[in-house]
Amino acid sequence: MAALDGLPPLRDVIQRHGLDARKALGQNFLLDLNLTQKVARTAGSLEGVTVFEVGPGPGGLTRAILALGAEKVIAVERDSRCLPALAEISDHYPGRLEVIEGDALKTDFEALADGRPVKIIANLPYNVGTQLLVNWLLPKQWPPFWQSLTLMFQKEVGERIVAAEDDDHYGRLGVLCGWRTSAHMAFDISPQAFTPPPKVTSTVVHLTPNENPLPCSIDKLEKVTHAAFGQRRKMLRQSLKPLGGEALLGKAEIDPQRRAETLSVAEFVRLANCL
Ligand code: SAM
Repeated sequence: MAALDGLPPLRDVIQRHGLDARKALGQNFLLDLNLTQKVARTAGSLEGVTVFEVGPGPGGLTRAILALGAEKVIAVERDSRCLPALAEISDHYPGRLEVIEGDALKTDFEALADGRPVKIIANLPYNVGTQLLVNWLLPKQWPPFWQSLTLMFQKEVGERIVAAEDDDHYGRLGVLCGWRTSAHMAFDISPQAFTPPPKVTSTVVHLTPNENPLPCSIDKLEKVTHAAFGQRRKMLRQSLKPLGGEALLGKAEIDPQRRAETLSVAEFVRLANCL
């Protein structure tokens, strides 16, 4: 893709700007521009879309998103060392890349969207990735401000996101994602594709909002999943005792001898609605 967008190879960019990767910032850079294009393509058409990217780093994924025709990219990056490299991309695509220096966890993405069609695409820093995803899943208003999330995680986190009942990876994250979204793992990326290579395989997860999730209070759903999966090997009559135990389960018509990991998302919603 260096030839496609005319910008220099990422290795040169990293060297020129002294962007040695910092572990504390979850910096594992993806330098293969074919792979960054594959990630960006997973989000579908970007024509007329504003893309929010978290952690552009030296800009490999940013370049792919712009080359694939996103109307605008708004990228939030915590590491100020990356800003000069990103400014070169911004100069190459005038008016189409805005970089915000800051912490994505403290960024109000909904306000930034300002009613525009938005897709979120990111190779997330491992230490804040799950929290960012949860934040994007919790808005009171649903469907949310984003059309899709295309996110790279450690594979184990990806498995928890897409897990359904009777799967070892099923837990609070799987219930939340299953309730409000349709999620699938698009493809894996081996550690060797990154600089420096992380210890584990990564995976790209694509999520789209369910238009009409079963009506339910988020707080109550969180309460029942927290209690149920807090003691996942115990029967629900035991793990849900603080929330009403057998009486609650009776009201929701769920066998008190079952365990958390056997309940479907719809059954968790029923429990929450009976709280
Ligand atoms: N997008 C680049 C790529 O694919 O090569 C870099 C991805 S690297 C896994 C994660 C990036 O997130 C780093 O550039 C890091 O500085 C940035 N980052 C870490 N914590 C952040 C935070 N709280 N808010 C915004 N960016 C953050």
